[in-house]
Amino acid sequence: MESKKVSFYTLGCKVNQYETNAMAQKFIDNGYKVVHQDEQADIAIVNTCTVTNMSDRKSRQLLRHIKHLNKDIVLVAVGCYVQVAKEEVEKIPEIDLVLGNNEKTNIVKYVETYIENKNKLNQITDVMHQKQFIDFGAITYTEKTRAVIKVQDGCDRFCSYCIIPYARGRVRSREPQSIIKEINQIVQKGIKEVVITGIHIASYGKDFKNEYKLIDLLEDLNKIENLQRIRLGSLEPTLITAEFVQRLSKLEKICHHFHLSLQSGCDETLKRMNRKYTTSEFKKVVQLLREQYNDVILTTDIIVGFPQETEEEFNQTYNFLKQINFYKMHIFKYSPRKGTKAAIMSGQVDGKIKEQRSQKLIELSNENQKAYNQKYIGKEVEVLFEEKEGDYYKGHTKNYIMVKIKSNSNLENCIKKIKIENEREIIN
Ligand code: SF4
Repeated sequence: MESKKVSFYTLGCKVNQYETNAMAQKFIDNGYKVVHQDEQADIAIVNTCTVTNMSDRKSRQLLRHIKHLNKDIVLVAVGCYVQVAKEEVEKIPEIDLVLGNNEKTNIVKYVETYIENKNKLNQITDVMHQKQFIDFGAITYTEKTRAVIKVQDGCDRFCSYCIIPYARGRVRSREPQSIIKEINQIVQKGIKEVVITGIHIASYGKDFKNEYKLIDLLEDLNKIENLQRIRLGSLEPTLITAEFVQRLSKLEKICHHFHLSLQSGCDETLKRMNRKYTTSEFKKVVQLLREQYNDVILTTDIIVGFPQETEEEFNQTYNFLKQINFYKMHIFKYSPRKGTKAAIMSGQVDGKIKEQRSQKLIELSNENQKAYNQKYIGKEVEVLFEEKEGDYYKGHTKNYIMVKIKSNSNLENCIKKIKIENEREIIN
């Protein structure tokens, strides 16, 4: 009998991306064939996101669109949007199976039960009381050069604008042995770089009985033979102390690129956001990293137009960002997320003002990136080439500058030293 075909659609963050790979692996292990979205499939899995109201809408639209294209497909909605908006999702008639985040690990079983009984199936267990990390085991279904590795789930921070703790539950960390085993297996398949990911990786180890923390994990991962690079996912600045940086600096595989989620450069706004640091603490973190690594690249996320953000507060943010001089900033216009404290705060900011503030910061980010890139022209850098596009090979330096070069030899999945000849070889 021909294998049933399953296709995947992923919205949202790197954790979701990892979990899509994990679910794909489960289907492959059970004799299914994973196919590209353009191919005709028997089952479609939509791994939804709920980080903004817009993500909810996108999740709903995608689900309806898939069923519209193929009315016979078994349509599965799984993940964060389902987890926090159960009633809403259950009412969407096109969906056959509605599964929460805890259910991802047993997805094949649920799909097979549905196929057998043809009864709409809803299974969403409570994530808020989930104490153990749910381990998918070693996943070898991944990209060719870089693999996202999930080391942690959940968040205990409750930032006032964020719904994620309700979709993901409390902090749960993955056993180091399981992480090491997975990386060892993918390295054997040729993977050169891993991206350490979680919902809040700064909290890694918080739930362990011993004192094993993220830095201990990184020290252990650095010892893995044939692994070339370890990249860290988004970090909360409070993790980065002098001791952390000092230990980190001894690990030669760590990429000198850190994404520090700042969100605002104004202390009053940070307080309303319920972020747990001040701008001066953040500045110290930046100093520590820059003192340690002369080629470090820092990127960040900023929210503009947070409730009650005055012109004066925004200007504080702008000036702070000028001082810090990030390589790149991801700018988000605040949009109220139903179910969060910030959504019901007074002083919601007008859309036009948000747009103006966003534009101003996007311009600053572009200027910064351009100035940084200029410094790399004529310099020799080490690049891991990930893919070929036309005549060009594209890849990233260790500190995350994206470059493309022409080459007659196959550079895919090779780490190579090159000299950046001109601006066109850097991708913004
Ligand atoms: S740290 Fe804040 S923004 Fe990040 S997932 Fe936790 S609650 Fe959300």
